[in-house]
Amino acid sequence: MTPLRDALLRYWGYDSFRPLQAEAMQAVVEHRDSLVVMPTGGGKSICFQAPAVTMPGIAIVVSPLISLMKDQVDTLRECGISAACVNSAQTAAERQQIAADVRSGNLKLLYVAPERLCTQKMLDFLADVEVSLIAIDEAHCISAWGHDFRPEYRMLRQLRSRFPKVGVHAYTATATEEVRRDIVAQLGLESAELLVGSFDRPNLVYKVVRRKEVLKQVREVIDANPNESGIVYCISRREVDELAEALRRAGYKAKPYHAGLSDQERHKHQDEFLNDDIQIVVATVAFGMGIDKSNVRYVIHTGSPKSLEHYQQETGRAGRDGLEASCWLIWTAGNFITWRKMLSDLPADAFRQADDSLKSMERFCNGVTCRHKVLVEHFGQTFGKDNCEACDVCLEQIEQVAEPLVLGQKILSCVVRVKESFGADYVAQVLTGSREARIVENGHDQLSTWGLLKDEKKTNVRDWIEQLASQGYLTRVGDYNVLKVTPTGRELLHGKSTPRLLQAAAKKTASRAAKSEADSWDGVDSGLFETLRQLRRQIATDHNVPPFVVFADTTLRDLARLRPTTLAGFRQAHGVGDKKTAEYGETFLQAIAQHSAARGLTTDIASTSKKPQPEAAASAISTSAAQQMAFDLFREGKSIEEVRLAVNRAPATVCEYLVEFIHQTELSDPSTWVDDATSRKIIDARRQQSDNRLRPIFEALGGTVTYDTIRITLACLQHAAPPSDPE
Ligand code: ADP
Repeated sequence: MTPLRDALLRYWGYDSFRPLQAEAMQAVVEHRDSLVVMPTGGGKSICFQAPAVTMPGIAIVVSPLISLMKDQVDTLRECGISAACVNSAQTAAERQQIAADVRSGNLKLLYVAPERLCTQKMLDFLADVEVSLIAIDEAHCISAWGHDFRPEYRMLRQLRSRFPKVGVHAYTATATEEVRRDIVAQLGLESAELLVGSFDRPNLVYKVVRRKEVLKQVREVIDANPNESGIVYCISRREVDELAEALRRAGYKAKPYHAGLSDQERHKHQDEFLNDDIQIVVATVAFGMGIDKSNVRYVIHTGSPKSLEHYQQETGRAGRDGLEASCWLIWTAGNFITWRKMLSDLPADAFRQADDSLKSMERFCNGVTCRHKVLVEHFGQTFGKDNCEACDVCLEQIEQVAEPLVLGQKILSCVVRVKESFGADYVAQVLTGSREARIVENGHDQLSTWGLLKDEKKTNVRDWIEQLASQGYLTRVGDYNVLKVTPTGRELLHGKSTPRLLQAAAKKTASRAAKSEADSWDGVDSGLFETLRQLRRQIATDHNVPPFVVFADTTLRDLARLRPTTLAGFRQAHGVGDKKTAEYGETFLQAIAQHSAARGLTTDIASTSKKPQPEAAASAISTSAAQQMAFDLFREGKSIEEVRLAVNRAPATVCEYLVEFIHQTELSDPSTWVDDATSRKIIDARRQQSDNRLRPIFEALGGTVTYDTIRITLACLQHAAPPSDPE
């Protein structure tokens, strides 16, 4: 793994792997097929990009959209890696140049759309080229079960047999098992290594609130993130247009995006957003795929999406850089009525499925359980923390009312008293003691339930009615949405069922900030961050690339924290590699020096304290310290499992440490970690083949011995004396 680590630092300026990256890269360099599932922003691209840099030959990367390919190629080039994409927008001369670069071995990565890759001409061309690996990005597009099925992805089936010696690697953020199985089957992957990362996104702060005055609510979020990029999702095109216009009139740089706009308009608005020319895109679900922008700081839903899968995917577009980002879900019970109406044309089975998804989403909206926990568990994983410190529930911004049963009974009895003939607004008015003419005329000011909740705000009472309805205690009928008590509601009236009724928490706790946010700003001079952001924008314009391609926000914050005055210090910042140091170092140093001198700021802060390591926060000890500790324990003869527990690293990483340890100490005897019979089998199988590849050995042993065990044994074998020649 050392060459990969070196590449990570040299080209990207990252000093550690994120969870599962080491394992995913290992599969690539060993030419073993793999399927890697990580959430958006988890760091999938580097899993094939770093090996592509270290391996001989050219990596072929399949990607569905030109915009995605372009961003990735720009980002790679900015890091000093030679990459190109072929697409229909290029001239014949441009394509010929790329072909010449491929032939001469000048390119490390070639991005291509599936339909182009699978033309006979392209396949013939690649047959004469040394291909290091084949990476299939957004691999769920091959599955009809997924949400982004693209028939052209089906053509990729032939790759496995066309390139028998090349590893085929699929990458996706999709969470469903059905789709994963389908990807493996459709691509014909062989004994594929399946690596599934955690679906939790600890840097996303989830907040769920009732929709009241949506424009005001949206503006509050935007105003809390001045100059930052954000996406606002709406359910319908009409809402998109109206909200974008309202924001624009209020002075915000916002543009709409939906399928009803022309291609040209959509591209224009998307580009403006990527280039930070506008801050806000108001969009339907049509917006998102192909957006690699890493510094989206908030995603707002102005209505509930139709499933947790959609919610996870859309909110996933925030905070790809690992810095804190907020996800606001502003919803009403009416959203679910709208969705059910929209889905009512589906065949019965499909409707049932869609309805189940809606119910999960409704429970999420109404829930008082940690949002991270609910999402992670929905995708079949366990959530280990007691408090995520990054959702409205754990930050104590909402809470259960003191006596939900009594409150629920008061509301339901009022519905009964008005003879189940009025809507929610009316009932709330009666409960809060309104003397509006209609109520007096109906004699409802004489009811025992009139004014029963007169100390509560009417909006709160409306909220609780919605909560009771979405939990099935009340239902709405007819054109006027008249409230009726359901059989479950009757149980509540008899005290046999308790509802969950929520309210906003007292203000003093509501202002608590998410931990990730406090941490990522710690020590950062925000004025300098702003200055550096302007500088980045200027450079991006000059280079004709989006700003996030020049540097991620993580890097700018680190620079505004460390305030280096030397190139060596600059190189220490997170996400600064060799090329960017050479290219931008001096310019940034000058800006930092000027700003720091003008404000009397200390410069050259030691980089140890706050180098942001998004998502890898769980690892308390640094890589080199962990490796050193592992070496000491191996020396004491500790097992892999014992070492793993001590250093808190993935098994594959511990195995990698052990292999490194074996080489450094030139150990020839694997018996501490591999039993004799197994190592003999491995050595026999190794002798049957001409090279050191693991896969043939793995296959010769019928898959009964793990790759890690094979790797450890072969490492020792390298240091054993060669067998003496037979007499
Ligand atoms: P995905 O494709 O899974 O959505 P990306 O590959 O775009 O995610 O990575 C998200 C961000 O994280 C990128 O800015 C990338 O450079 C960064 N990143 C990836 N790996 C690491 C790492 N090991 N350390 C720090 N940042 C990383």
